[in-house]
Order: sequence, then structure tokens, then C-alpha cells
Amino acid sequence: MSDTDRLEPASMARAFREARRRGMEVEPAVLFHDLGRMRARIGRIGAAFPPGALHAVAIKANPLVEVLRAAVDCGAGLEAASLEEVRLSLAAGCPPGRIVYDSPAKTRAEIAEALRLGVRLNADNLDELERIDALVRPEAAAGRIGLRINPQVGASSIALTSVADRRSKFGVPLEQADAVRAAFARYPWLAGLHVHVGSQGCAQAQLIDGIRRVEALRQEIRRARGSGAASVMDIGGGLPVAYRSTDRPPALEDYAAALRREVPTLFEGGTTLITEFGRWVQAGCGFAVSRVEYVKKDSAGRTAILHLGADFLLRRAYHPDDWHHDFVALDPDAAAKEGPLSACTLGGPLCFGGDVLARDLALPDLSPGDLVLIRDTGAYTLSMWSRHCSRGIPAVLGVDGGEIRVLRERERPEDVVAFWSRGRGQP
Ligand SMILES: *Cc1c(COP(=O)(O)O)cnc(C)c1O
Repeated sequence: MSDTDRLEPASMARAFREARRRGMEVEPAVLFHDLGRMRARIGRIGAAFPPGALHAVAIKANPLVEVLRAAVDCGAGLEAASLEEVRLSLAAGCPPGRIVYDSPAKTRAEIAEALRLGVRLNADNLDELERIDALVRPEAAAGRIGLRINPQVGASSIALTSVADRRSKFGVPLEQADAVRAAFARYPWLAGLHVHVGSQGCAQAQLIDGIRRVEALRQEIRRARGSGAASVMDIGGGLPVAYRSTDRPPALEDYAAALRREVPTLFEGGTTLITEFGRWVQAGCGFAVSRVEYVKKDSAGRTAILHLGADFLLRRAYHPDDWHHDFVALDPDAAAKEGPLSACTLGGPLCFGGDVLARDLALPDLSPGDLVLIRDTGAYTLSMWSRHCSRGIPAVLGVDGGEIRVLRERERPEDVVAFWSRGRGQP
């Protein structure tokens, strides 16, 4: 079974019309996040894995506190890629025991703060274990500290998000398993292993292969040190989603069933299982709508200028072959735009030539005042917002059943001035 479930353009357009009818700030561009859909996805993860598992949603996919709060309120934990993301988790009301702090660059001060806060953390390397050892009170850290392993299963189809090739910058390479065994002998507080195989570009078989290798090492450590040892296994995220109608990513339930079949020890009692899905939870919950400001025509075709570009869709602008989005033309009333198709380039609002979202797309003839809907923008878009050219971030609106509420207000020019100023309110 594959997971082709995506929000339909008609329902997205309906949410846009409703937000505009309510006088919310939808011009000249607006971002949406469907919280009901997000909760349903978190519910599916919970149902597919054993009841005691912790499902920490990767904050770096979408760091809006109101989005995180909705995830926490339905039982999820949060995965933090920085100490700042740990603070975002706390701001969202996440209990420390449900926060997983992963970063390859933790300073001593950050490690000390994480230990003080009582969050879970995964060390990236053996030197970090030494730093932790100098700071930890073992009895206070019980069951909360893991070690990231690079399973060395090879790069994914997307170089930029590969983390499991032989020389990845993340984790202790599996070929150094002896050093990992020695670490468990040396540090009684070390509670488990962590692996995150990749993001979007990994096939299900590759994800499972990486997890299987690290789980085999964990089982070996448990056999050597007793069944209470290495009781935590964090299998990361990385499950891909559909960005095109022809994409056939695995269904979450099939992925969990395949793990249960191929790596059954993960599901045994006595193991605390942790997942860290980001994109799978968030990508399909988000969409964006921009007004068409100008349409330029020349002998080669037309270019429509939008209010979202490389600031919002950074990866799309720089690596369009790896990062696809569907664009849908709407008329000024947000109804599907009809008419014959012709080649149209979608340009962003920034002052550099690479700020192009799509070249020569077959679209109905766009005019100023029409709208362009961008699908599947809920992950790795707003979280990668680029300040180049200093445009303000549009309002982010949360769709929740029939309700729509502001998740983040539109940034004003004065907010951007404050961002580039000396700081803490000083001009
Ligand atoms: C980015 C990241 C994730 C989330 O990856 P997705 O592809 O969004 O599921 C999980 N764990 C770690 C350590 C990460 O760096």
C-alpha cells in the first residue's frame, strides 16, 4: 500500500476564501497549516507502533509554537535540533520527558542545560559522551541519554539530506562498534542507541536496513550487559511523502508493519521505542496562497511574479530537481482557473535571478490579481525562511475542522527592522 493521501486543492481554496471572508490577513500571500490533519497523522503513528512508544515530532520541519502545542496536546513529544528548539518545546508545553534533544554541535553549556531541564538527549559522538560524563548525575539521567550511530547504509537519492553514507557528519560510524560497546561498559548512564537514516530520499528498504543494523548492535550490547542495558531505541524519522500525484511513498502503517516483521526486537517489552517523524507529519498539512502581482510577456513566454519565492521555498529554488511542489492557478475569487494551458514561469519576489519557483509550467493564462496555490508546504519551508531581501513572513493560519485561527501574525516592516537591529528592542 502506498500513501497518496493529500489535501485537495478545492478544500484549500475553500479555507482561503473563508479566511478572507473573516477579514484575516491573506494578502498578498498567506500560509496555512491544517491542524486537524496533523493530529490525525500523529494518531496514525501512535496506532501503528506499540502503546508505550514516544513519538517526537521533528521541530525543524515546522517550528511554530502553536503547531507544536497542537502536537503536544494530542500526546506527541518533540525532537529538537538545537537548544533553541528545546526552548520552543517548553514554550509549547511539552513535558521534558517527551523532548528529545539531538544536535551534532552541543556545547558544554547546552549539555548542562539539557541535563538540568531533564530532557532526553542523544549524543552525536564519543567526545560528547565524555562531556556528558563530566556533567551528569547518573541517577538523575536514568533512561534519557542515547548515542547516535551512523548505520553506513549509503547515501539516499537526495545528496543534500543524506546522513547515512560512510562519511556522514552524524553519529558514530557503525564500523566503530567496538568503541560503542566500550562506551556502554564505561558509562552506566548510557541508555540506548539512536539512528536517523535520511530524509525524503530514502526508500523504505534503506530506512529499515539502517535501523536493523543499529538494532543488531543494541541487542548485542543487551546480551553482553544484561537485559536492562541499552533499553532505549530511537529510530529517527525520514519517511517520505507524496509531492506529486504520481509519487507512491510507503504508507506509515506498512512501514511499521515491515519493521515489526524485519526487526521484531524493537517491538518487544523492555524496550522504549522512540520515533522522530517530521516531514511525514507536517508536509501535507501545509499550503500557501500568493496573489499574482504582475505578468510579464516576452517572445519566450510569460512570467508571473508572486509574493513567495526562494525566501519560503529555499530548497525548491536552489535544487528544483530534488524538491518538487505542485502549483495550482486560481482566479481572484479563489476558484479553479479555467482556460487553455500555456507555458508560464513562476518568479518569486526577491531581487536575484535564481528566485524562480517553476519554469515553463503549463498553466491557464494568469493575470494580475489571480492567485497561485502551492501544495504540500507544511515541512522544511517556513522553517527555512530566508531573510535575503528582508521581506516579512506572511501570516500563518491554522485550519482546524471548520475553525481558522492565527498561528503567527504577518510580520510588519518594523518587525524586520527589529530583526536586523542591534537586538533586545534597541534600534
Ligand atoms: C531531520 C531529522 C528528523 C526528521 O526527519 P524527517 O525526514 O522530517 O522525518 C528526525 N531525526 C533527526 C535526528 C533529524 O535530524
